[in-house]
Amino acid sequence: MMYYTHLAFAFLAGLFTYTFSPPLAPIPYFALVLLGALLPDIDHRESIISKWMYPLAWLITFFFRHRGIIHSLFFITALFWTISSLFGVVYAIPLCLGFLSHVLIDSLTVHGINYLYPLTTLKISGFIETGKAGEFMLFLVLLALIAMKIFFW
Ligand SMILES: [Zn+2]
Repeated sequence: MMYYTHLAFAFLAGLFTYTFSPPLAPIPYFALVLLGALLPDIDHRESIISKWMYPLAWLITFFFRHRGIIHSLFFITALFWTISSLFGVVYAIPLCLGFLSHVLIDSLTVHGINYLYPLTTLKISGFIETGKAGEFMLFLVLLALIAMKIFFW
């Protein structure tokens, strides 16, 4: 999926989880959710996050394949543990929520996601082609849901 679809879905997930999460001001909470939503594609050289973090991303794409370990549940678990230990669970929750939302929506694509890569296979895929009309429709639906959540719920 493209970065804008990831941002929209993560923002929606943030709107639904904010009140249940350990207290954090809205701006840092949503900033972490959105950052988390961009992070997984650091394993893809053409992504926005890779352009921001160029030397690091280059190194990562050299060693790890796209939608491999960095899009797995193992990596999310390790990230959660690391961020909780270093900075606190208050920050780990929104960051990993954004990250998880990225992987979840990537599994709607034809390419799909193997959640248990590289140990075993738990592959989920869908019918959406990245960057094509189907993804744009999904993006519009997400925007509509965000607007509904903000104005009517
Ligand atoms: Zn991805």
